Amino acid sequence: MARIAQAARVSGRPTSAVRLVAVSKTHTAQAVAQLAACGQRHFGESRAQEGVAKIAVMPDAAFEWHFLGPVQRNKARLIARHFHWLHSLEGLDAAEALSRHAHAADTTLRVLIEVNVTADPRKHGLSAAALPAFLEAYCTRAWPGLRLSGLMTMAAHGAPESAARATFARLRELAADCRRAFGLAGFDELSMGMSDDYHWAIAEGATMVRIGRALFGARDIG
Ligand SMILES: *Cc1c(COP(=O)(O)O)cnc(C)c1O
Repeated sequence: MARIAQAARVSGRPTSAVRLVAVSKTHTAQAVAQLAACGQRHFGESRAQEGVAKIAVMPDAAFEWHFLGPVQRNKARLIARHFHWLHSLEGLDAAEALSRHAHAADTTLRVLIEVNVTADPRKHGLSAAALPAFLEAYCTRAWPGLRLSGLMTMAAHGAPESAARATFARLRELAADCRRAFGLAGFDELSMGMSDDYHWAIAEGATMVRIGRALFGARDIG
């Protein structure tokens, strides 16, 4: 939190503008509980069943759970019922299933669209070029279980500062373009920055940083 505060300070941003999402995938519920005891409230998982198992042993309503992985059709119900945020929306079919299940459970899932800014074929997410058409289609329909809240991206693995910052700056510009073109209200979250590049993401306007290894240590898998 001190490092996040420092990164925010040097960028002239308030610390409260940046939310830390602790990415607990592959780590035990015990490790999550330890971090929760330090005051951490937001946790991120990328596999539905693994996440739900941890949510089940931490029923405190003060926690918010973020789903970061691809949405498999047969997992939409689990995700919609148990998670508060989804950072990885990239299709209308997934949106339809998530909205229906969230609405049926009388809850609202806040969703971010994942954008593959660097057009990396190994990465998930919509291309920047595909974003307007996606939003155009999205905005013609009602989504009673969803609240569209912003964009998410990942910089290239091991990217130097200039490249990582260019990716993050591009996401910020894309979000502004979307707000303007589609009159989106509340579309203000920028989920960007991980263990190695979160300070650059904060400098470029991240409102959520997703950090795993720098909090929990190395992962065995995943
Ligand atoms: C695993 C993961 C992270 C965390 O990565 P670290 O390098 O461990 O900080 C962030 N975002 C997503 C989408 C992930 O899958």
